[in-house]
Amino acid sequence: MYPPNIIDFIKIFSKLPGIGPKSAERVAFYILSQNVEFAEKLAGSIIAIKKKTKKCHICGNIDVNDPCFICADPKRDNSKICVVEDAMDIYLIENMSIYNGLYHCLGGLISPLSGVKPEDLKIKELISRIKENKVKEVIFALSAIPEGDTTILYIKSLVKNSDIKFTTLARGIPVGTGLQYAGNKSLEEAFKGREEVKTNV
Ligand SMILES: [Zn+2]
Repeated sequence: MYPPNIIDFIKIFSKLPGIGPKSAERVAFYILSQNVEFAEKLAGSIIAIKKKTKKCHICGNIDVNDPCFICADPKRDNSKICVVEDAMDIYLIENMSIYNGLYHCLGGLISPLSGVKPEDLKIKELISRIKENKVKEVIFALSAIPEGDTTILYIKSLVKNSDIKFTTLARGIPVGTGLQYAGNKSLEEAFKGREEVKTNV
């Protein structure tokens, strides 16, 4: 059996997404094979992402500043809001350089099965932003799963202004996967080919 400190490391490290106990073991032995400066740098960068990163109080993005670099940029087109589940999705879309509007991070999707209710998500905040910013287009960049459709229809039902266009990404993204799993090319095509939301998505 491993010494207790290695067991502790494997236990905590295997909680990370995509990393099981076997990978955690390999990481532990890799770190042991490096010098102490490497271990310090690694530990320091883990602490820094947590301590030096803020959640934007406007859109929920992750940045070193609050408001984030997108909300603070006067050159962004504030007539468009792209709605995402996760702050990571904002960076995926930004990396494509095809969108100059604002974002809104919901923090998940409505899911009766998993007990996620509308009030658990940043939906109220989104509705206020749509009203205050005179938004003309709301783009839903959500996973193409039933929970995504439920979330879209729920939000749409709360906005009575018929001048606002609601669009969703073209369904090029494999069903049941989040944006992270779509290739860059298919995400870009899905974004450019976005279609208007029908009453029954
Ligand atoms: Zn922001």
